[in-house]
Amino acid sequence: VHGRPLVYLDNAATTQKPTAVLEAIDAFYRRDCANVHRGVHTLSQRATVAYESARTAVKRHLGARDSREIVFTRGTTEAINLVAWSFVRPRLGEGDEVLISAMEHHSNIVPWQLLCAERGATLRVIPIDDRGDVILEEYERLLSERTRIVGITWVSNALGTVNPVREMIATAHAKGIPVLVDAAQAVPHLAVDVEKLDCDFLAFSGHKVYGPTGIGALYGKRAHLLEMQPYQSGGDMILSVSFERTVYQEPPYRFEAGTPNIAGAVGLAAALGYLEGIGHEAIADHERRLLDEAAAKVLELPGARLIGTARHRSGVLSFVTNGIHPHDVGTILDAEGVAVRAGHHCAQPVMKRYGVSATVRASFGIYNSSDEIDALARGLRKAREVFS
Ligand code: PLP
Repeated sequence: VHGRPLVYLDNAATTQKPTAVLEAIDAFYRRDCANVHRGVHTLSQRATVAYESARTAVKRHLGARDSREIVFTRGTTEAINLVAWSFVRPRLGEGDEVLISAMEHHSNIVPWQLLCAERGATLRVIPIDDRGDVILEEYERLLSERTRIVGITWVSNALGTVNPVREMIATAHAKGIPVLVDAAQAVPHLAVDVEKLDCDFLAFSGHKVYGPTGIGALYGKRAHLLEMQPYQSGGDMILSVSFERTVYQEPPYRFEAGTPNIAGAVGLAAALGYLEGIGHEAIADHERRLLDEAAAKVLELPGARLIGTARHRSGVLSFVTNGIHPHDVGTILDAEGVAVRAGHHCAQPVMKRYGVSATVRASFGIYNSSDEIDALARGLRKAREVFS
């Protein structure tokens, strides 16, 4: 990039793809390309096996009990919308409440706003403290007999906070309230076990875990999925159709209307296999080191301030540099070949909470190195020189 080696530190937005993923997609299109679930011919059977094996790979990676608890979606956003419209909508009445946190990504805010507006319900927000941790006493106080669902991010894309989701789920369950976990930033960095978490739903995107765009998944407890009606309909999600009556398939198929992203699912399975080959502990150790190094280097810069200093953080370092707009920092870094994100990170309310309109965000992945953190630091010093 600009004649320099690329230093890619925008992994929270999307990740680069390992060869294993590219090869799996390539092989699918070259050898097995056909539609799923329909054909008797060999290619269609191969495509179906590949697609359903990918579902099993997601199930295994998330620690789910049953592949039928895995619904393929376009990503986290579509998964959250599915829960909002198919699970929450029928049980949300006037005066009811949906509870989310102050650090949610827009995709875990806007679907709830839309739904609350339609149903005459209220969106409530768990406040966060100055470090970027949810205030658990406030959370407990906000859980009421009117709360129909809690939607909470596991890892914040803007602050890097790792929320104590297991405890939060237990607290909500003690009051009979179901919980959706937005795991878009968690699956790339942490070991996930939906059985241990006991979450009702968990959503993630393939492209943030080294897989392709346009594919992700929703985990949902089987009992919930069985209760839910589809909110998108069409081919492949039905058992029978007449003009008088349509009978839907069992979950998860009733939530996968139309031809799915078969190659995407194949690529996602390859990505999860790749991550499992490295191992979660090795990934966590490596990324923790990078995060600590980057935080130390950023703080050496005169006028730099971290946004988000929660006790437990992962993957993301958000900061502002006094007197230099984040977009200018991003542009100067880009000229040095360093890709970071500058902006509100689709989390405008959290920016407002800290009284900033934007931050610079460096986010880390498995392929980043200490040398790249040095390149980030050099670029930041350059920005400081330009603007001093
Ligand atoms: N939730 C979080 C925490 C995210 O970081 C993102 C993407 O940045 C999303 C949800 C939305 O993911 P997608 O755009 O892949 O649906």
